[in-house]
Amino acid sequence: TDFKSLGLSDLLLKAIEANGYDVPTPIQRDAIPYILKGDDLMGLAQTGTGKTAAFGLPLVDRLLATPQASQPRGTRALILAPTRELVNQIAKNLVSFVKGTPLRVSSIVGGVSINGQIKRLERGTDILVATPGRLLDLVERRAVRLDTASFLVLDEADQMLDLGFIHALRKIASLVAKKRQTLLFSATMPKQINELAQSYLTDPVRVEV
Ligand code: AMP
Repeated sequence: TDFKSLGLSDLLLKAIEANGYDVPTPIQRDAIPYILKGDDLMGLAQTGTGKTAAFGLPLVDRLLATPQASQPRGTRALILAPTRELVNQIAKNLVSFVKGTPLRVSSIVGGVSINGQIKRLERGTDILVATPGRLLDLVERRAVRLDTASFLVLDEADQMLDLGFIHALRKIASLVAKKRQTLLFSATMPKQINELAQSYLTDPVRVEV
């Protein structure tokens, strides 16, 4: 299987080439066609399996294929991850995927000045990558609106639960668009993750690598 046969657009195929990816990893091969189709998806995958591109590439493709409906510009995709390091890494990947498109990527992490973050967010963004705690902080200060987000990705969901983000996750999930595509990735599938999936995913495709 090559990337082209997964259904990605030429623009994304260029980004893939620029990143030096030759062949899709198993999670990419299994998940990308479903995500492009609009399905909810639950992926059992560890870090290092290429899962960032597995959700990032089709997400960018879908954003490009569906012009945004609302004005003013609002966040269209929200990606939540447990740690600052992971958020920065995901954002870096996404920036490489949106190169040459009008899409903008922003990240929100704790431990840095909140005022600087508020200023940067005023410019608007299409794809927001965030840790749940700081994001909720910004939502409560009305610096971010999430109701325009029709893509929600929960990355390393088991880690987010371990770090005590369940309340923040529930709150955030209640604020994003009701009609949306939701993707959940986790390295393990304890009962709590299954419950989370039951409440936030609709008929999810299950992919395991
Ligand atoms: P991740 O699991 O998303 O953290 O990705 C792990 C590493 O693999 C990152 O450095 C990616 O840039 C890289 N990577 C992702 N997909 C591919 C691919 N299809 N071929 C080669 N490297 C890849």
